[in-house]
Amino acid sequence: MDLFSKEPDLLSLTYEEVKAIADKCKKCPLSKGRNKVVFGNGPVPCDLMLIGEAPGAEEDLQGLPFVGRAGQLLTQILASVEIKRPDNIYIANTVNGRPPDNRAPLASEQEACAPYLEAQIKFVKPKIILLAGAPAVKAILKSDEPMTKLRGQWLKLPGTEISVMPLFHPAYLLRNPSKEKGKPKWLTWQDMQEVKNALNYYRQVAELSKESKD
Ligand code: SF4
Repeated sequence: MDLFSKEPDLLSLTYEEVKAIADKCKKCPLSKGRNKVVFGNGPVPCDLMLIGEAPGAEEDLQGLPFVGRAGQLLTQILASVEIKRPDNIYIANTVNGRPPDNRAPLASEQEACAPYLEAQIKFVKPKIILLAGAPAVKAILKSDEPMTKLRGQWLKLPGTEISVMPLFHPAYLLRNPSKEKGKPKWLTWQDMQEVKNALNYYRQVAELSKESKD
């Protein structure tokens, strides 16, 4: 994914205009089997953004990201560190259409959808982006490193100063439910503490900057 280099026409539009174009998009084969386009959802702008892999069955029906079982677990994980949906996080996927049989999105589909994601990042202006699962990491960071190595690391969104942290996908945590120390759920809890601390830091910096201007 070549961030911020393509389709500048989308970047010159408003958020609502980009969303309206995505709602009618037929740029890739994922337009064929969909019920609803699943554009990102949450406050614009927002300090925190999460990018997942692709919509599933429930998301396709509702037209909203992360509302199935994995989405419900994500909501719980976020709430455990006082990040409320939808108020405190903007959530999107690498593609806006559900891949058939819940397969991973193809690189060509992610490329086709990348301008919509890039536009959302521009509008949301996040300080932190969480990448949920390997397909999101691969699309955004171009990394094939295993999630066991990448998760919990602070990286940068290519070409920007935006902090990025890969996380285990909540669907993976549903398949690995143990909360034992060192297991994926426990590790994700550690990662979310880091995210919460970083968000607090950014908020304090913003408040200090506001005070110094007042
Ligand atoms: S997945 Fe993205 S590029 Fe493909 S049809 Fe849907 S909106 Fe268009």
